[in-house]
Amino acid sequence: MKKSSMTYLEKLLNAPSPTGYEDGARNIWRAEMKSFADKVYGDTHGNSFAVLNEKGKRKVMLAGHIDEIGFQVQSICDGVIKFQPLGGFDTNIIPGRRVIIHTAKGDVPGVIGKKAIHLMSADERKKTTEFRDMWIDTGIYDEEELKKTVEIGDPITYGYTLEHLAHDVYVGRGVDDRIGAFIIGEVLRNLKGKNLGDLAVYAVATVQEEIGLRGAVTAAGSIKPEFGFAVDVCHCLMPGVGKDVVGDVTMGSGAVVTRGPNINPKLFDLVVKTAGKKNIAFQRDAACRGTGTDANAMQLSSGGVACQLISIPNRYMHTPVELFDMKDVESAIALMTETILAVDKKTSFVI
Ligand SMILES: [Zn+2]
Repeated sequence: MKKSSMTYLEKLLNAPSPTGYEDGARNIWRAEMKSFADKVYGDTHGNSFAVLNEKGKRKVMLAGHIDEIGFQVQSICDGVIKFQPLGGFDTNIIPGRRVIIHTAKGDVPGVIGKKAIHLMSADERKKTTEFRDMWIDTGIYDEEELKKTVEIGDPITYGYTLEHLAHDVYVGRGVDDRIGAFIIGEVLRNLKGKNLGDLAVYAVATVQEEIGLRGAVTAAGSIKPEFGFAVDVCHCLMPGVGKDVVGDVTMGSGAVVTRGPNINPKLFDLVVKTAGKKNIAFQRDAACRGTGTDANAMQLSSGGVACQLISIPNRYMHTPVELFDMKDVESAIALMTETILAVDKKTSFVI
């Protein structure tokens, strides 16, 4: 990864971007795309579009969702903040975390509080933690002062940032799926100045994926692409999680290329053929139904779109410590860049 791209990736991953409140990362993504794309624009939903060769008659859409799971302020009572989830959480890993409340007046730090183990009954200790058992403590215990500081609906993210662990492994918050928004932008950057012929390339940082693939629905509906790639994270092998659950996918062995009903078989063949020709490492994965990704929304839009899902293996999805391997990121960027360049006049995705 080039140093300048790494600096941008770090900024993008560290920006707050909870579902429905994606401004932080959106502004960074759009500014970066403006440095090389032919056109950058937004829509009423919050999606961001960066385009190359807009007059091309065949449209390809690259989707990476820019939203991350987060929380929002539900109410203020007893000097603490009650909060709601934006996206799917394992409530067992929420208590004890640092959070940041993003208010109109600036960031307010807090922690997620819960009754200490000493104060729990034997029954309470066996129970799964629920949202009603937790609150956010800011250290501001005067209710009037707290109400002046924080507003109902203010978005909240975990207070964690990107860190290098070892080798090519990084850990961060919101890797799902700002790494996808980053990757599609890098593909667009690679395609800049290349002969795209009749292809118009749309990179789209979609919003609200975490609550039902919502941004991809509106974005694909407005672009009406012929084919497209969705980039997201996927689960992989780890202790206690075997091949019967996640397939034969490991971190660091290359981007994951999915096959199944959500995927156009001709586009899949082109990706695999291109990987072979260009010597790009990748892994295969099977999905027997619509995937829980933007590829599903895209495939079902506008009379049908030929889709390929490309995934980055990820450990600890939907926690503040999501792990990924930079080798898989490089593989995904190369795979999509080369596949798009391999599309010619004879390429058809009609089955
Ligand atoms: Zn997710």
